[in-house]
Amino acid sequence: MHDELLEAIDAWLKRHVEPHVARLEHDDVYPAEMVEQMKKLGLFGATIGQEYGGLGLPAVTYSRIVARISEVWMSLTGIFNSHLMMALMVEKYGSLHLKKTYLPRFASGEIRGGLALTEPNAGTDLQAIRMRARREGERYVLNGTKTWISNGIHGACFAVLAKTDPDASPRHKGMAMFLCEKGEGFSAGRKLEKLGYKGIDSAELVFQDYAVPAANLIGGEEGRGFHHAVGGLELGRINVASRGVGVAAAALREAVKYSQQRETFGKPICEHQAIQLKLAEMATRVEAARLLVRNAAEIYDRGERCDMEAGMAKYFATEAAFENAHQAMRIHGGYGYSKEFAVERLYRDAPLLCIGEGTNEMQRIIIARQLIRRNRI
Ligand SMILES: Cc1cc2nc3c(=O)[nH]c(=O)nc-3n(C[C@H](O)[C@H](O)[C@H](O)COP(=O)(O)OP(=O)(O)OC[C@H]3O[C@@H](n4cnc5c(N)ncnc54)[C@H](O)[C@@H]3O)c2cc1C
Repeated sequence: MHDELLEAIDAWLKRHVEPHVARLEHDDVYPAEMVEQMKKLGLFGATIGQEYGGLGLPAVTYSRIVARISEVWMSLTGIFNSHLMMALMVEKYGSLHLKKTYLPRFASGEIRGGLALTEPNAGTDLQAIRMRARREGERYVLNGTKTWISNGIHGACFAVLAKTDPDASPRHKGMAMFLCEKGEGFSAGRKLEKLGYKGIDSAELVFQDYAVPAANLIGGEEGRGFHHAVGGLELGRINVASRGVGVAAAALREAVKYSQQRETFGKPICEHQAIQLKLAEMATRVEAARLLVRNAAEIYDRGERCDMEAGMAKYFATEAAFENAHQAMRIHGGYGYSKEFAVERLYRDAPLLCIGEGTNEMQRIIIARQLIRRNRI
C-alpha cells in the first residue's frame, strides 16, 4: 500500500538527506531546505484527511514512513510528527470552523507547529501544569511557560494545554486545550541545548497576557483538555515507536557493515562468535519491534482501542533502539566513539525515545493496568 509514496521518500532520503545529515547534525542546523522538500512530499499533511488537503494515510503506512526517515535522520520526523499531533487535536476534537481554517494550511506546511503540554514543573504529571487560561468575554487570556516544545522556535502555531480552573477536583476537569498562533504575548523563549535530536529546535514557549479567541478552545468546552491530550497519545506512541524501529534498524545496518570491514586476528570481526551473538540479538529486536508497531498501527486503523498495544510497541521499540545503538557502538570499538561514524549520533538520539511521549516507566504501568483491566477475574 502506498508503495509509490514510500519509493519517493526513499529516493529523497538517498539524494537530498543522507549526504547532508552529518554536517547539519553536528552543527545543530535547522534543515530548512529539507522542510521545503517535506512540504512537497506532503509529509505535513500525512495523517490529515484528504478533504482538508492532507494525504489521509493510515497509521500503518505513516509508521513505515517514520521508521524509514528515522533510519536516516530521526530529527526530521520530529518536525512533522509533533506538527501532526497538533493537527490531530484539531481534526479529532476541533469545531468545523477550526478545521476549515487551519487544517488545509497545516497540511500544506504553510503553518507548522506542535503540541505544547510540558512545563518546567510538570511532564509525566500533566495535571500539575500551571499555565492559566482566564475567560474574558469572547477570548481567553493565557499566562505561563511551556518547556521542551519541539518546533518551538520555527513553529508558528501550537495546541496548548492550560488550566481554566486550577482548583478543580479531580484536577483534569479544570483543563482545556487551545490552538494558539504566535503573536503579541506569545513568543518562543530560549532554544534548549540537547545531547542529540539536533537540527530540530526544542524551546520554551512564553505566554504573557496572550489573548486567544474563545473559538480556539478545542472541543468548545472547558474541562476536556486532558482528555484531548491523552486522546492523541495512541498515535503519538506509534509515532515514537516507529522512530525506535528506524534507529534500531540503522544501528543494525551500521554494525553489519562495519563488522564485515574490520578485521582482527586475521578475519572480519563478524566471524567472531561474540560479535555474531550481538548481531543476532540486534536483528531480532528490529524484527520484533517492527511487528509490534505494525500490530498497534493496524488496531489503530481499525478504530479500536490500542493503548496497551501502542504502549508495548513504544516501550519495546524504543528500548530496542537504545540497546542496538549501544551494541553498534561496542561493535565499532574505538571508532564508535568517533564523530565520523553514524553510530555516535544514534547513541545520542536513542535515549530521547525512552523519555518522550510518555516515559518507558509509564508505558509499563499503562500496559500492566490495561492487562489487568482486560483480564479481570
Ligand atoms: C527533546 C525533547 C523533546 C520534547 N518535545 C516535547 C513536545 O514537543 N511537547 C511537550 O509537551 N513535551 C515535550 N517533551 C517533554 C517530554 O514529554 C517530557 O520530558 C516527558 O514527558 C517526561 O517528563 P519530565 O521530563 O518532566 O520527567 P518527570 O515527569 O519529572 O519524570 C522523571 C522520572 O520519574 C519517572 N516517573 C514520573 N512519574 C512516575 C510514576 N508515577 N511512576 C513511575 N515513574 C515515574 C519518569 O518515568 C522519569 O524517569 C520533550 C522532551 C525532550 C527531552
